[in-house]
Amino acid sequence: MSFIETRGNDGTKPQEVEFSDAILSPSSSFGGLYVPKSIPNLGLDFIVDHKDKNYKELAFDILKAFEIDIDDTTINEALSLYDKFDDSTNPSPVVKIKDDLFVNEQYHGPTRAFKDMALQPFGYILSSIAKKRDEQYLILAATSGDTGPAALNTFKNKEGIKVVCLYPKGGTSDVQRLQMVTEDGENLKVIGINGNFDDAQTALKNLLASQTFKEELIKDGISLSAANSVNFGRIIFQIVYHFQSYLELLRQGEITLGEKIYINVPSGNFGNVLGAYYAMKMGLPVEKLLVSSNENNILTQWLTLGIYDIRGKELKLTKSPAMDILKSSNIERVIYDICGAFRTKELMEDLNTKGYFEHTKAELEVLKQYFSATFSDDSYGLKTIKKFVDEGYLMDPHTATCIKGYEQLKQKDLKMVIYSTAEWTKFSPTVLNALNEDTKTYADKEALEEISQKLDLKIPTQIKKLFDAKIKHDTVIDVSELEREIIEFLKVK
Ligand SMILES: *Cc1c(COP(=O)(O)O)cnc(C)c1O
Repeated sequence: MSFIETRGNDGTKPQEVEFSDAILSPSSSFGGLYVPKSIPNLGLDFIVDHKDKNYKELAFDILKAFEIDIDDTTINEALSLYDKFDDSTNPSPVVKIKDDLFVNEQYHGPTRAFKDMALQPFGYILSSIAKKRDEQYLILAATSGDTGPAALNTFKNKEGIKVVCLYPKGGTSDVQRLQMVTEDGENLKVIGINGNFDDAQTALKNLLASQTFKEELIKDGISLSAANSVNFGRIIFQIVYHFQSYLELLRQGEITLGEKIYINVPSGNFGNVLGAYYAMKMGLPVEKLLVSSNENNILTQWLTLGIYDIRGKELKLTKSPAMDILKSSNIERVIYDICGAFRTKELMEDLNTKGYFEHTKAELEVLKQYFSATFSDDSYGLKTIKKFVDEGYLMDPHTATCIKGYEQLKQKDLKMVIYSTAEWTKFSPTVLNALNEDTKTYADKEALEEISQKLDLKIPTQIKKLFDAKIKHDTVIDVSELEREIIEFLKVK
């Protein structure tokens, strides 16, 4: 199947590209994104056929439905990366926590957060395309949280790919920073920036605009690629586990074939719930997609009022930092699907030039057929963690945002699956604040140990070993030194 552009074609890029091109060079005309030309409809037969199949078989068949130009062997090798998860046949288990409420736990991979679900197999596929074409790619990432560790883990020692990951010194948790600076690989460079996340991101943007940097890349024969959450190579793997949620409820005897369910996703850049939107369009019986946000509630505004307005809005730093976002990139794919390329370009240009856009009534009606949305603040999140732990289930602050939607947005007596995007170990100081009902500042290590003792939980080895691991990347620099530092790294063969 070919891929087309959300804002139409500018005449300099091809009208249509294959999957491999869409994921190697993910930016399309007018700053848009690539989307599949059509969304395959799989129907209920597909669900029946996969009731007794494992996760990898399910993923393989969903990828094949998009007719991607990746050979079967490569797809299977990519999917074998799920062997690194706690249960390779079921990497994101679905757990019952109330009669009508289930959790799809997406954090059982190497870096203990949901980013692994897609980045593990995606990293393999990207590298195998680069290798086959005998090309070298550079991936630049600025991270404040979970993407950096997951990207470094998946790309380490992969041929054809180099990764430079910037993090704001002091702007990540201990666990997140250690996951990056202890990651070992010849092709990885992790750089701490004196500044905050915005400084790191601005430094990256300036670098991409620098003429000397561009010339250096050409000289070294290196092209730029991206592994951010708008890459369709990540989205395609994020469709699979929504089918898995449904299949698991069927297998557990909780629903009958064809019965609808609610899917409730803690959202930031809208990649996770976009996968659910595609799954729904592919025939998964879903009543509504619930979009859960924190106090940065721009998605709630978009889906309830049909307005996306960032004028005068400032990003709030919350206890669910992976959802702290104002410009949520993947909404563009839904807008394209509902409004078409011409209108998408118009709305996205409004957002860029005026700081807001507004849907027509009719457009909003269509959005509301698929989505409902709500948000909650940190104090709600902490209380929710405490309440559920008392009932026997421990969740992280991102997952806790879904409970608001469970309480407010469920209109029918149907089962609901919420998505748990991070293990408690990644946000342990906040989790401990919730358990102790205090506001103390804990270090990750002490919080991990105290929670582990209190709740008799094991700290997984991937997290535990971080505190004794050798630091491989000790570079911390000012932004002014960034370009020189990266160019030096690129020269190392
Ligand atoms: C990335 C992330 C999210 C948000 O996912 P999107 O696909 O960007 O909406 C939520 N929770 C955690 C823990 C994450 O790492």
